[in-house]
Amino acid sequence: ATMPPLLSAMANAGRHGVLVKSAVVMERLGQVDAVALDKTGTLTEGTPRVVEVRTVPGSGLDEEAVLRWAAAAEHSSEHPLARAVVEAAVARGPAALPAATDFAARPGTGVEATVDGVRVTVGAPHRLTGPDPDEAHDRPALDAAARLEEQGRTAVLVRLDGRPVGVLGVADRLRADAAAATRGLGLLTGTAPVLLTGDNPRAAGQLAAGLGITDVRAGLLPEDKVAAVRELERAGRRVLVVGDGVNDAPALAAAHTGVAMGRAGSDLALDAADAVVVRDELSALPTAVALSRRARRLVV
Ligand code: ADP
Ligand code: MG
Repeated sequence: ATMPPLLSAMANAGRHGVLVKSAVVMERLGQVDAVALDKTGTLTEGTPRVVEVRTVPGSGLDEEAVLRWAAAAEHSSEHPLARAVVEAAVARGPAALPAATDFAARPGTGVEATVDGVRVTVGAPHRLTGPDPDEAHDRPALDAAARLEEQGRTAVLVRLDGRPVGVLGVADRLRADAAAATRGLGLLTGTAPVLLTGDNPRAAGQLAAGLGITDVRAGLLPEDKVAAVRELERAGRRVLVVGDGVNDAPALAAAHTGVAMGRAGSDLALDAADAVVVRDELSALPTAVALSRRARRLVV
């Protein structure tokens, strides 16, 4: 007997590296007419590296000390930025990191933990300082962060008991097939892809420009990503959301079709998604959409 078209399309998508969770999803994948892409870990490789450490003058700490405090707090986080911070600290000083207690992750913002009796916060500078930063207190760190962001870096602020002590500059590489996949999805859906990111507008804008993406929404919290998807849906769109992080899980669940990046993807994102890109090849995604369309033509 021959396999029903949707099942053979599923098998075919799997061979291309897209694991589709059900035949229903395989059918829906071809209906999407808008695409929203996450940045870090989705369009980029998701293996960022700390390329610069700036200490805040007067903090009394050197680069290594700033990195070690940050890494101790980040140790329990599965965020790609957290891994970059821990790796950088271990590379500079192989001694075991001090233990952290009361760890809390704030998706889209950063982490907090207590290390040696000190409350350490690490994360997005503007999220940590809030919209109304204390000028005398936060300005030197925010200025350092802005300079890093202008170079396309993600800036990570480190605070000890609320006092800014340093800023880390983190760089991530674009996936080799990010441009091809973005273009392919744009052509298949007939609409310009949208970038949804929790990262800063400067770094996001730089990356988007290189991919021909003009609709850039930066500085988003997980619920802001959901709101962006709902807004597109109210405009009559069936949105394909592609993401990898804990911060993407709500948007993946809200989307018409959610696709998670498998290799670096968080468990929450994998669970929330309808399909998973298992081999880290983003360009398998337009192929899967095309396979769905062909199967649906055979079904109806
Ligand atoms: P994206 O949407 O680009 O994948 P996220 O929403 O995961 O990014 O994170 C948004 C921003 O929040 C990051 O760019 C970073 O500044 C900050 N952030 C989140 N988690 C962490 C963490 N564990 N360590 C440092 N910064 C973090
Ligand atoms: Mg991400």
